[in-house]
Amino acid sequence: MGPPGVGKGTQAACIEKHFNIIHLSTGEILRDEIEGNTRIGKQAKGFIDLGQLVPDPILLDIIEIRLVHDDCKNGFLLDGFPRTLPQAIGLDKILRDCHQELDCAISLKADEDELVGRLVLRGKELGRSDDSKEIIKKRQNIYWEQTAPLIDFYRGKGFLKEVNGIGEIPEITNRILEAIK
Ligand code: AMP
Repeated sequence: MGPPGVGKGTQAACIEKHFNIIHLSTGEILRDEIEGNTRIGKQAKGFIDLGQLVPDPILLDIIEIRLVHDDCKNGFLLDGFPRTLPQAIGLDKILRDCHQELDCAISLKADEDELVGRLVLRGKELGRSDDSKEIIKKRQNIYWEQTAPLIDFYRGKGFLKEVNGIGEIPEITNRILEAIK
């Protein structure tokens, strides 16, 4: 977890390599669906372009189908999911049904204003439609309203790791690895 632009995707790719496990980014999955012009893609596009969250049932369906693939058997890293309390509760049920459980939840922390600058740059480099300044602000607000409560949810379960997300990429990766050791 972490606000938009904190480096979830970047760090997830490093952690994926380190443990040789699969990294599932729901944002990426949704962008692929949009690219493929699928039914899910068509449903998701309007929400993503406006910086809003895609409805929970769509996300839970995606994750439920994806987690039973063979490549998840040795473990997986979820990036950008869950993002709401109903998603977290739905995930618990999905995991129970496939006899899996979470080992830890990582919250990457950073100063909001620094992140806006980073995201505007990413929007220009990658051409992401949801990385304009106005939409970024909206996504940040949604993060604090809907996703931040998950920090307490996972703290309550006793496996939350909070990590400073400011610094060089390898430095942050090391902090994460240290935290989850
Ligand atoms: P991301 O690449 O994780 O920043 O996600 C990009 C966008 O995809 C988000 O702003 C949401 O519109 C949508 N999205 C990704 N993951 C989720 C999720 N777990 N729940 C709802 N919407 C999501």
